[in-house]
Amino acid sequence: MKKHNFSAGPCVLPKSVMEQAAAAVLNFDDGLSLLEISHRSKPFVDVMENARSLALELLGLEGKGYKALFLQGGASTQFLMVALNLLEKRAGYLNTGTWADKAIKEAKIYDDIYEIGSSKSANYNYIPKGYDIPEDYDYFHCTSNNTIFGTQMKSFPNSPIPMVCDMSSDIFSRQLDFSKFDLIYAGAQKNMGPAGTTLVVIKEDILGKVSRKIPSMMNYKEHISKGSMFNTPPVFAVYVSMLTLEWLKNLGGIKAIEEENEKKARLIYSEIDLNPLFKGYSVKEDRSIMNATFTLENENLKETFESMVKEAGINGINGHRSVGGYRASMYNALSLDSVKALVEVMSELESKA
Ligand code: PMP
Repeated sequence: MKKHNFSAGPCVLPKSVMEQAAAAVLNFDDGLSLLEISHRSKPFVDVMENARSLALELLGLEGKGYKALFLQGGASTQFLMVALNLLEKRAGYLNTGTWADKAIKEAKIYDDIYEIGSSKSANYNYIPKGYDIPEDYDYFHCTSNNTIFGTQMKSFPNSPIPMVCDMSSDIFSRQLDFSKFDLIYAGAQKNMGPAGTTLVVIKEDILGKVSRKIPSMMNYKEHISKGSMFNTPPVFAVYVSMLTLEWLKNLGGIKAIEEENEKKARLIYSEIDLNPLFKGYSVKEDRSIMNATFTLENENLKETFESMVKEAGINGINGHRSVGGYRASMYNALSLDSVKALVEVMSELESKA
C-alpha cells in the first residue's frame, strides 16, 4: 500500500533521490561507495561544490556576495553560531515559536537580547506584526516558518540592520526576495535532504565585525575559507541534499514547487474550514503552507479517525505535544495525492459522524 508520509522532519524525500542515493552507497565512483571515499577526492569535492552552487542558484543569490556552507550540528547549532559571529552589543529577535525561543535562549548566553515582538502569550498561533527594528542593533533574527505551530511569515520587514532567518522548515518552498536576508540557515531534514547537515547562506560582508575570539568550528569565516571543508563534512547528507536540489531545479525550481505547495495547502485548509469536525490552530492569515495544524473537535471520534488514518496508509500526523491535535506537514516532496488521501479520510469521518 502507498504510504503518505506527513512527518514533520525528517520527512518524505523524492523517490528518484532515494534511488540515486541508495545506488551511490553501493557504487559511487569506480566501484567504491560514497561512504568509503575520501572527502578530499575530486568526486566528492565536486559534490560539495555543486551542492553549494545549486543552493545559491535556486535562491537567486549567485554573484551577489553570498556564500553557501553545509555545516553540522543542526539548525540548533546555528542559534549560537549566529550570536558568536554577529552579536557585539545587542540583537533583536522575533519570538514566533519554540524554535525562535530556543534561538533567543542561546543568544542570551552572549548578551541581552531584545524581543522585538512575541506571540508567546497566545501559544504562538499568530505572527506578531507592526514591530520596529532598532537601527543601532547588530542584527534582527526571525523564523520564517514555525514548524510546531503551523504559522508562517507572509512578509518580511525592510530591516535597517542585517536580517538573519531560520528557514529550516520552509526553505526552497516559496519564492521570496532572498537578497533581503543577510544570513539564512536551515537544517536539511525537511525540504533538502536527510538529517546531518545544515545549509547556511551568508552575505560575506556582514562577517568580521565582532571583537570576541571565535573558535574555529564556530567561525563562518573559517568555514568559508575552507570551502565548507574545514573538517570532514557529512558526506552522505551533503550528497543527498545535492540530489534533492538537482531534483528541484529539474522540476522548474522554487516557482514550480510553490505552485504545488499552494495547491496542497488550499486543499487541506478548505477541508479544515468546511468540515465542522475540525478546527484550524493558526489564525488564517498566518497559516503555514508547510505545516497545517488542526484539532478534532469531538474527542469521542479520535479513535475512529486515527484508525481510518492508519488504514489509508497515512503516517506522521500527530501534533506536537505543545499544541496537541494534528499536524500535516506537506514538504516539497509530498505529493498532492497524499493530501487528497488525508482530506478524503477527514470528509469520510464527517459522513460517518
Ligand atoms: N528551527 C526550526 C524552524 C525547526 O523546525 C527545527 C527542527 N524541527 C529546528 C530549528 C532545529 O533543527 P535541528 O534539529 O536541525 O537542530
